[in-house]
Amino acid sequence: MSHEVVKFDLVNLLHNLDESLANFENTFSLDDFAKGHYQQHPFVTLLTCCDSRVPPSMLGDTFNRVFCVENIGNQVKNSEGSVLYGLLHLHTPLMIVAGHSECGAIKAATSDFSAEPSALVNELTTVKNSLYQACAGIKVDLAAASLTQAQLSEINVDIQIDQLLAHPDIAPLVEKQTLQIIGVLVDLHNVYGEGYGKVYTVNVNGEKDVEAIKRQDKIGGFAAKAKRLPK
Ligand SMILES: [Zn+2]
Repeated sequence: MSHEVVKFDLVNLLHNLDESLANFENTFSLDDFAKGHYQQHPFVTLLTCCDSRVPPSMLGDTFNRVFCVENIGNQVKNSEGSVLYGLLHLHTPLMIVAGHSECGAIKAATSDFSAEPSALVNELTTVKNSLYQACAGIKVDLAAASLTQAQLSEINVDIQIDQLLAHPDIAPLVEKQTLQIIGVLVDLHNVYGEGYGKVYTVNVNGEKDVEAIKRQDKIGGFAAKAKRLPK
């Protein structure tokens, strides 16, 4: 689970952050903020892995647009309250669940993590349970399965969406069509073979069939992006 340690020049790093913060302050769009009565009005609740290679900015400017919930392995159950806040109190009409290739959380959850600190064990256990639940749903034995890591990431996104659709407070929103849930896979490593950093639609409101997703005419460019790895 350990990663290569990169040596940072902390003094230089903090200096650069100083510039970043100054830039945020200097370009802060007060007019837009005032028009919205200084409230937050995000259009999307984004549940994503906190992996730093999957930036919320893939959805454009994030300020007052993206209600971002991040945890390792993009798990509903590890941040359920935050997700519910975005959907039930901020009423975002869109929820995106984003997984990615080479997810360290999925790799860790499918290995022995018992020696990790208890908080990490707890979160990884949720990831592991998600994968078991997903595999049970498709009648696959996780321990014996030869699913690639990216395929596990796909079914991990599926099971998060299944959990959302089964939630008594969220299901009615989808039924009334006031909430659209889209699952994407960010292919950082060109596993799908169409280039590094491509984004694919793998699930729409529980629909996993690529051809069925492609036929949907109300999801914009997400329809054309439908793709899943061959089983
Ligand atoms: Zn990850």
